[in-house]
Amino acid sequence: MTTTQHTPTPRDNFLRENNGRHQIHPMTHPLIIENRPPRIIVKGEGSYVTDIDGKTYVDGVGGLWNVNVGHNRPEVKAAITAQMEEISYYSSFAGTVTPPSIELSAKIMEMTADEDMARVLFSANGSDAVETALKLSRQYWKLEGEPERTGFISLKQGYHGIQFGGTSVNGSTLYRSAYGPLLPGCYQVDSPWTYRNPYSEDPEELAEAVITQIDRLIQHQGAHTIAAFIAEPVQGAGGIIVPPASFWPRLRQVLDKYGILLISDEVVTGFGRTGAMFGARGWGVKPDIMCFAKGITAGYIPLGATVINERVFAAWQKGIDPTGFIMHGYTATGHALGCAAANATLKIVEDEDLPGNAGRMGQRLMEGLKDIPNWSSLVGEVRGKGLMVGLDLVADKDTREPIDPGKGQGEMVATFARDEGVIVRPAGPVIIISPPLTLSEKETDKIVDALIKALRRYEEEK
Ligand code: PMP
Repeated sequence: MTTTQHTPTPRDNFLRENNGRHQIHPMTHPLIIENRPPRIIVKGEGSYVTDIDGKTYVDGVGGLWNVNVGHNRPEVKAAITAQMEEISYYSSFAGTVTPPSIELSAKIMEMTADEDMARVLFSANGSDAVETALKLSRQYWKLEGEPERTGFISLKQGYHGIQFGGTSVNGSTLYRSAYGPLLPGCYQVDSPWTYRNPYSEDPEELAEAVITQIDRLIQHQGAHTIAAFIAEPVQGAGGIIVPPASFWPRLRQVLDKYGILLISDEVVTGFGRTGAMFGARGWGVKPDIMCFAKGITAGYIPLGATVINERVFAAWQKGIDPTGFIMHGYTATGHALGCAAANATLKIVEDEDLPGNAGRMGQRLMEGLKDIPNWSSLVGEVRGKGLMVGLDLVADKDTREPIDPGKGQGEMVATFARDEGVIVRPAGPVIIISPPLTLSEKETDKIVDALIKALRRYEEEK
């Protein structure tokens, strides 16, 4: 932890007094926030953030796995400011458009040419990007004359945002149970999760077992009722679950057998985080639809994007007909500031080869952390791909039973890591590390060092 960059102001008192009193924060109980208000972050620079008390930390979370180019980048700020000097917003609904979205759409098509992508629909968040993907895939089948294809298949532990469609395909009941009834015809199959599954410890056997389950589910429900399969190339919020290498290629094969669309939710994995430009590309697979958000603007301005390939777009190329109207889109679709931020961000991603750096720093991180399960009573496994890394916390090392997150062990480790100058994120029974993709070797080593010290302290104080 280094010293202050933040000069206290009279506003700080107001902030401290009102923090946690009026605002509902996502993914926690409002009364928890009232008793334990969140840390107020006031500044960011590169891989570092500073809180209101003037303490500076390595941002091991990368905002929320989105600040991929690091904080406070002059190039991104300049692009947003330059656009604001022209016009901040104008509608993209029929008849008008602003320049940055034209530039960004061309750039995304260039970047996804290997995936045969054909068109992009912009929105404001990852949840929007997922919702758009689900709705366009249903419309595709209506245009193709198979209107019964409305169902969706996804993976347990999958996370696809919080709107009703995304909630319906989320793999964890945690996100679903308070908000039903949800969309009918959504089915979840087991994740190909080597550390915890009832099938096999052998990755390839496990991949086959899950593929068989998917095949049988499709046959049972009838392929004529399934529109699409949606999955993250590496599952993020569900606990950093990296599938066996054969899973995505085999998934593509089984979906092709039944004509089912493959939606790759790249909200976290898009633009470099796993070490490849796109998560699905890292597995050598071409999806039909890709969902982007987060890293597309590195969090500077919210933006989502849903990209469809030539096969899907062909349904709209048959001619103009009322059923082909896209009766979907957001006020923020093509937002000039979001698109300007994305244009500047993607230039950095390419110019600085951030996928390459994520791959290298991810390996260094894993190398530094890999010994922990040998001595820590709490960490059962360290796993990850690129700069998506998770420490699986277990109550019992033999049975691999996860900790009860209610007992606060994850928070304790995260607090100890913060005392060592690094922010990491306890998410249920997993500690998640997802720093900016610009991370240096020194910063990577600092994360390793802080986690080792935090877990040793846990052993002493537990
Ligand atoms: N999909 C995935 C894979 C995500 O991780 C997230 C958010 N963490 C979303 C969708 C939803 O994105 P947002 O929070 O921007 O709506």
